[in-house]
Amino acid sequence: MESLDALTSLVAGGGVVVLSGAGLSTESGIPDYRGPSGVARRHTPMTYQAFTRDPVARRRYWARSHLGWRLIAGAAPNVGHRAVAGLQRAGLVDAVITQNVDGLHGAAGSTSVIELHGRLDEVTCLDCGNLTSREELDRRLREANPDFTARVAAVNPDGDVDLPDEQVEAFRTVDCGICGTGMVKPDVVFFGETVPAQRVARCFEAVERARSLLVLGSSLTVMSGRRFVIRAAKQGIPVAIVNQGPTRGDGYASVCVDAPLGAVLPELAARVSGSAATVGGLPAAR
Ligand SMILES: [Zn+2]
Repeated sequence: MESLDALTSLVAGGGVVVLSGAGLSTESGIPDYRGPSGVARRHTPMTYQAFTRDPVARRRYWARSHLGWRLIAGAAPNVGHRAVAGLQRAGLVDAVITQNVDGLHGAAGSTSVIELHGRLDEVTCLDCGNLTSREELDRRLREANPDFTARVAAVNPDGDVDLPDEQVEAFRTVDCGICGTGMVKPDVVFFGETVPAQRVARCFEAVERARSLLVLGSSLTVMSGRRFVIRAAKQGIPVAIVNQGPTRGDGYASVCVDAPLGAVLPELAARVSGSAATVGGLPAAR
């Protein structure tokens, strides 16, 4: 495939910054609500405003998320995450910016990961600001809801699941375990919420230092991720996109590969290590 050749030579040049989205985690069993499968498209993600202002919406979120969390917590990195970690170990990838909140890049062994939208395995208190583990919150939620059982119909990338109203009404939420009264929220950026400015600045710095920007599994629908593609293009940094289906960044990209990541990334990793071996080993001096 011609585009795969172009992708290989770009990545073999090193200095790559990866920008990953939900499409990279679908093969770990976490559905992409904007991806081609469209499994969870009927689902509207929780907004920050509804979460903080509407107690009913908040209870619905925690009830669903209480179930969805099991699936997210049980998810393992797939061949795509492992290929990225391998390219990083080979010295070709400098940093990973991810829109995913599942922690799977780190679990696959990637370092220098900027989690743009936070992490689902951490919980923040909106009053005292303390961060605690989701595991601890999960334990407390199970204690508060000993009889809560429901069949999980579907799980969405934000750890939410579909659940009937009567199950939601019976669910008991808990407050912050540290200050005792604060409202807790998963430490992820909800829709309607802005990414912390410092985190965005770190991403822009990484992108501006990059030799190329490699987008993996994101349709770049939201500006939160697309802005890095636009910045790279403006700076003359080549952009490559691997995604199933068209993206809103295709116009900025010099290489677009429309294929499943689970097939492309291991092939890319193999080709890059092959081409590097023929020119005398990894990584190329930079
Ligand atoms: Zn608190």
